[in-house]
Amino acid sequence: MTKIKNCMNRRNFISKGLAGIAGAVAFPHIGFMGTACKRVGEGEGRKLVYRTLGKTGIKLPIVSMGTMDAISEALVRTALDAGIRHIATAQYYAEGRAEEFVGKIIKNYKREDIILATGVIPQPIDYRAGVFSKDTDISRFEREFEGSLRRMDTDYVDFFYLPFSAKKESVTFEPLMKSMEGIKKAGKARFLGIGSHSFVPEAVRAAADSGFYDVAMIAYNFQIKDIEERKEAIAYAASKGMGIVAMKTITGESWMAGKQKAVSNPKAALKWVLQNENIHTAVPGFTTFDQLETDLSIMEDLTLTPEERKYLELARVNHKDSLFCQGCGTCLEQCKIAPDIPTLMRCYMYAYGYRDLAAAARNIESVKDNPIACADCSSCVVKCRMGFDIKDRAVDIIRLRDFPSEFFA
Ligand code: SF4
Ligand code: SF4
Repeated sequence: MTKIKNCMNRRNFISKGLAGIAGAVAFPHIGFMGTACKRVGEGEGRKLVYRTLGKTGIKLPIVSMGTMDAISEALVRTALDAGIRHIATAQYYAEGRAEEFVGKIIKNYKREDIILATGVIPQPIDYRAGVFSKDTDISRFEREFEGSLRRMDTDYVDFFYLPFSAKKESVTFEPLMKSMEGIKKAGKARFLGIGSHSFVPEAVRAAADSGFYDVAMIAYNFQIKDIEERKEAIAYAASKGMGIVAMKTITGESWMAGKQKAVSNPKAALKWVLQNENIHTAVPGFTTFDQLETDLSIMEDLTLTPEERKYLELARVNHKDSLFCQGCGTCLEQCKIAPDIPTLMRCYMYAYGYRDLAAAARNIESVKDNPIACADCSSCVVKCRMGFDIKDRAVDIIRLRDFPSEFFA
């Protein structure tokens, strides 16, 4: 640690790997992309495809909007004007600035025309075990939710998610369920849901069986290893009336990262997701008008072209360049001295995929074990299911720990 720390400063941190991200630390461009925009909506004869989110009865276009890497007010307004209705944000995106950003935009619309979702991470959280801690601070959870409403300047959200729900125990963790029920009864959330990145089939089935949750937002993309189990769990939940929202649809690569990687084909990836009719809507992020146009255009025809099929097949077998950690846990058994590897890999995705260094840094703080074990290791014994070079990525991303929080402000 000392060795790393001593040779670090902001400038050489940036020059040694996370190149170019400095200017992209959490929402740096907000307000700077208000240039002339193409009109990309129904008004131009665009076909929008709708699906209903189970028993919520809410009918949405199959393309919605994630805000983890949203950067332009003009772009989001264009998306809404084009017919997108659902905005998914979270208290932990860009330290709450994503919610402020969303709040500023939705002021220009009738509140009832927008389907707004947010989520609050209970603290402390054990990502590695996939369960919420018995020490979960419920009053903090509720305070943070009130903060979300304040930042968005709204009295209620349509969907309130419990993010990082994983094992059944976390989905049915009573103190949190009670708290969420109180929020719903107070009229501050119309529907309750889980968000899940790992142990997804177990989490989705538990949510459906509980009868408590109305929606599930889950990681779902063509590279996922347990995709058949996920499909079955989703079908089960949908048959019980749950609404299903897909996130991480383009395998953790943001459109920005996609620009840097010639192999990326987000259009094919998104089409593949939405071919499953039990996915009611997806929340890809987009950062340019062209990307929005592409997202909307998939509704014209969800059929994969021969080229797109070929891309998906190739990317399925050759995915070591992907940024998406499956959360499969295969690595955990292989190294006893490593930090929480899946969390580190997720941080790597936040930094390189979403360009959100603040989210990456915050998640690294949650890794309790000695995070420089990897730096001191001569060779890595871990065989990642995705083929990631674990040591390389871990050593790269843990450098974020050496920076003061002001660096990310
Ligand atoms: S480099 Fe690999 S083997 Fe070494 S601590 Fe890190 S994960 Fe474990
Ligand atoms: S083996 Fe690879 S994909 Fe699976 S949890 Fe570990 S880092 Fe993620």
